[in-house]
Amino acid sequence: MEHIVIIGNGIAGITAARHIRKNSDKKITIISAETEYFFSRTALMYVYMGHMKFEHTQPYEAFFWKKNRLELKKGFVKHIDTVSKSLEFASGEQFSYDKLIIATGSKPNKFGWPGQDLNGAIGMYHKQDLEKLEKLAPNNTVCKRAVIVGGGLIGIELAEMLRSRDIPVTFLVREASFWNGVLPKGESSLINEHILDHHIDLRLSTNLKEIVSDKNGNVKSVIIEETGEEISCNVVGLTAGVSPNIDFLKTSNIEIGQGVKVNRFLETNITDVYAIGDCAEQHEAIGNRRPIEAVWYTGRMMGETIAQTICNNKTEYKPGHWFNSAKFLDVEYQTYGWVFSERHKSEDEQHFHWRHSKENICITVAYNKETKLFLGINTFGIRMRHEIFDKWLTEKRDMDYIMTHLKDANFDPEFYKQYENEILTTYDSEFGTSIVPVKKSWKRIFSKA
Ligand SMILES: Cc1cc2nc3c(=O)[nH]c(=O)nc-3n(C[C@H](O)[C@H](O)[C@H](O)COP(=O)(O)OP(=O)(O)OC[C@H]3O[C@@H](n4cnc5c(N)ncnc54)[C@H](O)[C@@H]3O)c2cc1C
Repeated sequence: MEHIVIIGNGIAGITAARHIRKNSDKKITIISAETEYFFSRTALMYVYMGHMKFEHTQPYEAFFWKKNRLELKKGFVKHIDTVSKSLEFASGEQFSYDKLIIATGSKPNKFGWPGQDLNGAIGMYHKQDLEKLEKLAPNNTVCKRAVIVGGGLIGIELAEMLRSRDIPVTFLVREASFWNGVLPKGESSLINEHILDHHIDLRLSTNLKEIVSDKNGNVKSVIIEETGEEISCNVVGLTAGVSPNIDFLKTSNIEIGQGVKVNRFLETNITDVYAIGDCAEQHEAIGNRRPIEAVWYTGRMMGETIAQTICNNKTEYKPGHWFNSAKFLDVEYQTYGWVFSERHKSEDEQHFHWRHSKENICITVAYNKETKLFLGINTFGIRMRHEIFDKWLTEKRDMDYIMTHLKDANFDPEFYKQYENEILTTYDSEFGTSIVPVKKSWKRIFSKA
């Protein structure tokens, strides 16, 4: 029986395993150095915040793996020999495969800061990071202040986690405004204000110079690059992005760049070796996407795609229209299609921005300057319906159509306040239109593109 070995039990590896099992009887082994069972990495923060226990982050019961004949193996793979088709574990054990899927995810970036490996300097990625944080920052008596370095999605989550235990947080962000390489400036400044409202000491345009040790090798303080200021702290969260977790491949003949190089079929340069999820790097980016996509749903899609190929139905990875969602403290964020920040947007891309006068609610709609073609939308504090925007992007709708039908897209729960009329009034006054909005129609909502 053909033996499929998957390194990595994250969303990418597990999705691949589940779909290979659905479609075949092959022998499947899933390896992980991190945990025995698959868990939802995106839910780690809620364990620290006391909303759930770690067990609740595991979507499948322990019996699921045996029932589906998915063999689980705990251990760190340190070398792959693609000639003999075998893996070597850190323990020295050898293990053979017929087909290999590399799904080893990411690791937190470290940029060689002095003191970055001190006790108290942590990333926030693996379960072990959470365990360290629990020890280092159980409360604000043990951890008097934490400094977070890097203003992205994981940094703001870590800030929220620490604030949930009333631990003072200083947040160092290199950019002049939070996540302004991704968010347009109206949204980025809304989040700056929201961070400050949560009593987080946000320092924009600020870089870490050094982490200072006490005499026992513990974090004592950080020094700021620009001013030389020393900030006392017990924990430093290093959240300046992630990169593919592939150092162990340097001794193999599998082609790597920043990640494991793959073609559109997720094949590496070596026959029978594939890579998926955060660790995979497309030779050429697909459309506007990045060659490495470190997000949950693309890992899942790649897992589904590779399972088809492994089961003799060779399938290209086609991720469709971009979408994503996240949470900035209390503000939910969704994005569909492309809305670029001022730093990255082209000449042709224009934005319509509406912001609520009092609350942290706003939308930005991107469109083509000449044709008014709808390019994408960001929403903060309003939930929108994914399928609708996917359909409108496929149908290449224009801005007036989007505004006319905006009620179809709203996905807020019943009795939530709706803002479409206010949005439309602003749109009409900016664009000189008199749009008559149509009533929400379930028939339209569920019709296919
Ligand atoms: C705190 C946090 C919040 C996030 N929130 C969001 C979000 O809201 N939305 C979103 O889209 N994405 C989010 N992400 C990103 C998302 O979690 C990742 O994109 C996704 O988990 C990657 O899945 P993966 O299967 O590629 O790899 P991973 O989940 O990283 O799994 C890879 C596994 O392989 C193991 N491994 C690595 N090397 C070896 C080796 N040599 N031997 C054995 N095992 C090995 C690793 O230990 C790990 O268990 C978040 C990430 C973090 C850390």
